[in-house]
Amino acid sequence: MTADSIAGAAYIVAALLFILSLAGLSKHERARAGVIYGIAGMVIALAATIWLTLQGAWGTGHGLTGLVLLVAAVIVGGAIGLWRARVVEMTGMPELIALLHSFVGLAAVLVGWNGHLEAPALSPDLMAVHHAEVFIGVFIGAVTFTGSIVAFLKLSARMKSSPLMLPGKNAINLGALAAFVALTVWYVNDSQLWLLIVVTVLALGLGWHLVASIGGGDMPVVVSMLNSYSGWAAAAAGFLLNNDLLIITGALVGSSGAYLSYIMCKAMNRSFISVIAGGFGITAPAAADVDHGGHREITAQATAEMLTNASSVVITPGYGMAVAQAQYPVAELAHQLRERGVNVRFGIHPVAGRLPGHMNVLLAEAKVPYDIVLEMDEINEDLGGTSVVLVIGANDTVNPASAEDPSSPIAGMPVIRVWEAENVVVFKRSMAAGYAGVQNPLFFRDNSQMLFGDAKQHVEDILRAF
Ligand code: NDP
Repeated sequence: MTADSIAGAAYIVAALLFILSLAGLSKHERARAGVIYGIAGMVIALAATIWLTLQGAWGTGHGLTGLVLLVAAVIVGGAIGLWRARVVEMTGMPELIALLHSFVGLAAVLVGWNGHLEAPALSPDLMAVHHAEVFIGVFIGAVTFTGSIVAFLKLSARMKSSPLMLPGKNAINLGALAAFVALTVWYVNDSQLWLLIVVTVLALGLGWHLVASIGGGDMPVVVSMLNSYSGWAAAAAGFLLNNDLLIITGALVGSSGAYLSYIMCKAMNRSFISVIAGGFGITAPAAADVDHGGHREITAQATAEMLTNASSVVITPGYGMAVAQAQYPVAELAHQLRERGVNVRFGIHPVAGRLPGHMNVLLAEAKVPYDIVLEMDEINEDLGGTSVVLVIGANDTVNPASAEDPSSPIAGMPVIRVWEAENVVVFKRSMAAGYAGVQNPLFFRDNSQMLFGDAKQHVEDILRAF
């Protein structure tokens, strides 16, 4: 058996483990097993790659440079990865993921360029396929690279989350795509270096423009779309490197990211096609400043009394719960209310927080039972008969303007209709807007009261008042 066939067999086992991992992650109960399959797959893939390089170094004596480079890359990459994973806050995960996507994009660009500079000797037909792989790989990689950097800048508030509104932005995107197709045909027939330079610059610009044109409220779909792009970029690199595992893994990430984007588009009432075409958050004009009247405030003591008299309570968490790290006292509050016979449920919006599934992860960490954690569609039906809704650090995801104000930047996005309950208590620190930057009329409703301050602090105050 040759080293290549042993490594090939190991890659197939790793690919199967990755598929099992994805299947496991689709259910809360099996998520832990899914993570273990994923780790096992990655260990096998790395071991097979190291083994192949070692064979090259010892067997032929030619692979020594490869071995040194591999060890250096693993040490540097592993050290940076370990350090970032240890220090990152849960609220910083989305921007870290966006940054990691940009590395995948950059890697695909470098592999593509290498494929041009070190082109293998092939028959003319196969050479045409090789050139197409180089060009497409560089294009997807470069779009992913700059797109992910803009997503990182927006998510970490280093760049404004409002959409960039260049005139004729759809024409720019479509024009860039048409130019890419024409340049690909040209390059396949005549693989000149300057064409590769032009497509790299074009794709870097397109990636930047695509994501910069998308407004705050629509960012979740962009994050999962870039996840998908990074998968296709990796698959393109796999074709060039002739690495089956990279092709399979890239296709898994690419297709699952695309499917997640589709689900999120449906949940947010956006058109999937227009997301892929880039920039769909700008058709609505900016909402005019409306005077909503005054708001009412409540204390933690009064909230505790209101909860004591309630028969049913719904808790809708958002990004602020993650910032305050309030999930533990919130879980304790739910537990104590249930002990007192109150019907307590959680209502989770699909894009609450800064990452798909962000709230579910936090609540699972605090050991909230899965059966009282409901999706938006499940809880919306019941809100009319609910005594108290506690909005813990959520804002855009409970904004009635999405349904009532067609000029709002978040118009049409389904939200949790908390205002239908008898009483609403909103935990936040000020009257500031949420991620999408729009005012929330909920705060001025007759049945709403504001509990200003840090969410964790106030939930603990309520527990003490009990
Ligand atoms: P929002 O960002 O709309 O609102 C969060 C609220 O939490 C803010 O209004 C803030 O108000 C409050 N807050 C912050 N810190 C604290 C604290 N320590 N204690 C109490 N309150 C606090 O969050 P939502 O979860 O409602 O909505 C998510 C938004 O993020 C949507 O617009 C979504 O599109 C976007 N997004 C979601 C992604 C995803 O995949 N889920 C990815 C990228 C973006 P104040 O400052 O006054 O305290």
